[in-house]
Amino acid sequence: MSVSRQRSAELMGRSRKIFPGGVNSPVRSFRGVGGDPIVFSHGSGKYLTDVDGNVFVDFCGSWGPLILGYSHPKVIEAVQKQATRALTFGAPSEEEVLLAEKIRSWIPQMEMMRFVSSGTEATMSAIRVARAATGRSKFVKFEGCYHGHADCLLVKAGSGLATLGQASSAGVPEGCVQDTITGVYNSVEGIEGIFAQWGHDIAAVIVEPMAANMGLVLPENNFLAHLRRLCDKYGSVLIFDEVMTGFRIARGGAAEAFGVQPDMWTFGKIVGGGLPAAAYGGRQSIMQHVAPLGRAYQAGTLSGNPLAMAAGLATLQEMERQNAFEKLESAGKQLDALVSAKLSSAKNAGKVAYVRKSSFFCFFFGTRSLPKNFAEVSACDMALFNKIYHCWLNAGLYMGPSGYEVGFLSTEHSPADLEKLVDVVAQNV
Ligand SMILES: *Cc1c(COP(=O)(O)O)cnc(C)c1O
Repeated sequence: MSVSRQRSAELMGRSRKIFPGGVNSPVRSFRGVGGDPIVFSHGSGKYLTDVDGNVFVDFCGSWGPLILGYSHPKVIEAVQKQATRALTFGAPSEEEVLLAEKIRSWIPQMEMMRFVSSGTEATMSAIRVARAATGRSKFVKFEGCYHGHADCLLVKAGSGLATLGQASSAGVPEGCVQDTITGVYNSVEGIEGIFAQWGHDIAAVIVEPMAANMGLVLPENNFLAHLRRLCDKYGSVLIFDEVMTGFRIARGGAAEAFGVQPDMWTFGKIVGGGLPAAAYGGRQSIMQHVAPLGRAYQAGTLSGNPLAMAAGLATLQEMERQNAFEKLESAGKQLDALVSAKLSSAKNAGKVAYVRKSSFFCFFFGTRSLPKNFAEVSACDMALFNKIYHCWLNAGLYMGPSGYEVGFLSTEHSPADLEKLVDVVAQNV
């Protein structure tokens, strides 16, 4: 493998003159880990090739959508077939019905849904609809959970923002966030306090049912059950933001994985199979507030785009055909075993903590125990993460360039890939 990144550097030089920070989404800028972004050319299966011809085994999967790896033949075939029919109609199509019915067969509790084009649109719309359904304004989010970049959600948000060390975004007027209440993830006491003070004004609680934008933080202390109970008691809408967990954590999503049902869901990433599609939905009694049935307006020129619908449907069908969840869980168990074999020695004690749930995994550095909220994640050794990050790159492994991101297993990874992943950590912590 050539180690030159000359063409990447040249393109980034041109990009910086056109795009803020040289990128079209901040976390891509490598500010979190230092160094220059890599410019990619193509991908196939688990392999990602940059413009200099360097090949990486990819554990980022375009931040989650590519659960089948790059350019799965079934997905490409579906997109090509659709492309010869129409790229967009701006009118109803069969493709959107097929994908929606498939989604509902996995998550039957979601009675109605609507397709949009990004996770940001999905969460923004879900909050609007929850507000319309309850006639209330306030809502709760948790520090370190990322729900996209709508104004009202840019309050101590995690992911890219946390990486850049900003508590919130400039350009968001106070008025836009005055009804956003920020809680501490996994703090039952915290959420009890919030409801005791504002309960009757709270339209919704939006939560990543497993937080995967501040590294990987599992719900603990029956956190989700407490959210469910408080939302029931006060008549608030519980929204699970499953843009990341949907179609990955389990067939039935977080409700299946953790045994708690939300009132509304948001999806993105896998649902578009690598093309821009997302969705929000919920019980019919809530979704009937969406225009034109109800008075909560929400629209989109490219919503339900037939290419994206075809890619999403092909992805879910192929996941069914491959028994993807079993396959990914068995890869995950192999990763667990490698970590216990190679990383649990006294030498590593206190230097690295590892967590995995289905095909999500994460290493936290400079800590003995797993972080349970954003403050604990932020206290980890990000300098050590950055060092390991570049060791991974040099070993030909590509991960999301930030210590606040998770790694994703795809159906394409082999035991040798997992071993390499763990070896780099073991040799460099
Ligand atoms: C990625 C993500 C979003 C935002 O989705 P975009 O398509 O990037 O707008 C929202 N919520 C969660 C949990 C996410 O992981």
